[in-house]
This record gives sequence, structure tokens and C-alpha cells, in this order.
Amino acid sequence: MVESILSKLTQTIIDCHVHINAYESLTNLSLKERIESLNNAMQVNNVDQAIIISSYKINEERPSTKHILEAVEKYENIKVVAGYSITNHNEAFIKEYKEYLKIGKLKGLKIYPGYEHYYPYDPGYKKIIDLCTEFDVPLMIHTGDTYTPTGKIRFAHPMNVDDVAVDNPDLKIIICHLGNPWFLDCQEVIYKNKNVYADISGLVLGDFTEFYEKYLVGKITDFLNYAGEPKYLLYGTDWPISSMKSYLNFVSKLDLNDQERNLLMYENSKRLFRL
Ligand SMILES: [Zn+2]
Repeated sequence: MVESILSKLTQTIIDCHVHINAYESLTNLSLKERIESLNNAMQVNNVDQAIIISSYKINEERPSTKHILEAVEKYENIKVVAGYSITNHNEAFIKEYKEYLKIGKLKGLKIYPGYEHYYPYDPGYKKIIDLCTEFDVPLMIHTGDTYTPTGKIRFAHPMNVDDVAVDNPDLKIIICHLGNPWFLDCQEVIYKNKNVYADISGLVLGDFTEFYEKYLVGKITDFLNYAGEPKYLLYGTDWPISSMKSYLNFVSKLDLNDQERNLLMYENSKRLFRL
């Protein structure tokens, strides 16, 4: 027992889904301070690597991918995925992302259906899908509940990802947030499509309550029973929206053997993002 607790504590951890937008605990901090705050949270929680995902829009609170890349230059343990939206990004961004992908500076791209009112299979995302395929990096797709009431959730239903997966067999896709609350639909899309993965980030604002934690452990257990060995499941938190500490506590409750735990906590991310 002591040994298994120790191995959990000393295990490699990759958090594949964090943000440094000026919200939650990061309000009123400069970009540099926000990244320091991320780095501190990683140290405190023994997180080895994290992937910052840039937003679907750019403004004072939400820095561009270029600014984030500049700001993380000195951090070996922090990588970047670029957000893209049909509404707020134009052709110039696609060109810029391509240049970053060529030199390995971006580990993937992310689209935000629901936050913007397009399905993930909308032709407007075609160039982003093609870039991911060309450079063999994953396309992250927001699914499930939106953090804002202006989101339209039919666009964010995980079932929509099936179309993208079938029509782009060489594309690797990450369903973000397990399709929350449509876990069942998400698990079928994962089970059916070998090119689809899912991250478990953003399932809570702040800390889990005991009740909600139990509920989610049940959902993920169902998921594993249905879809099998978790070669498709990635650890991520959505920090600072969700607490890193509370997330580690949550995953410690999952009934996984060492091999399955390693897949979830870092091996799948390492392989998929080529870290
Ligand atoms: Zn997120």
C-alpha cells in the first residue's frame, strides 16, 4: 500500500491542457507572471510538463500564440498548442502556424466548436485539419459544456467528432473534456475510431466535491470497461479553471493498474504530442 502511494507521488505527470488567459486566479497578472504562476503550480504538484493552449480569441486577457511562445522560451517543461477559430483568425494565422509547426514549436492545434458556432467538420476548419495531418500533430477539439452562456452546445457535442475522424483517417484527434456531460457518446466515438483520443480536463470549476468526484470516477470506469485499455486517455486539468491538486487527488481514486496509470498520466501524451 505504502509503495503504491509512493509510486503515484513519484510518477511522471504531463498535464496536456492548461491555459494562461487572465481569468480565475490569474486575473490582473502580466503574461510573464501568469506563466510563473503556472510553473509554480507545476512544481508544487510535481507536474513534469504542461501544454498551454492559446485561446480562440486574442485580446488583453487572451494572448496570441506568438506572445505565448515568446514568453515560454526559457521554460523547457512548458509546450504550446495553438488555438484557431474561424471567426477570429485569418489566413495569416494559418501561415504563421505552419511556420511554427515546421520548426517544431507547436505541439498541436485546437479548435473551439460551441464557443464559436460551427461544427468541427465545418469546411472553415479544413486548412487546420490539413496542417495537423501534414505535420502529424494532434487536433484538439473542444467538446461539451461551454464556460460561457453564449456558447451553443449542439456544435460542441462529441458525436460531431465522428465525422471528422472518419473523413480524415490520418488525422489524430483529441476530444477535450470527455464530451462532458455526454460521456457515453464520447466513449463510442473513441471506441469506434482508432484515431481519436480524449483528455479528462475541465470537468470541474476549482475543486471536486466528494459527490461529484465519485460520480466522475463511475463515468470513467464505465468508459474504460467499454473502450478498453486507456491508450486513448490523456491527463489534463484545464488549470487555472480546475485545481491541479484536486485533479491529482481525483485521478488517484481511479482503479487503474500501474501500466494503465502510466498511459493516462504521461505515456499517451508523450507519444501523441511527441514530447
Ligand atoms: Zn481548456
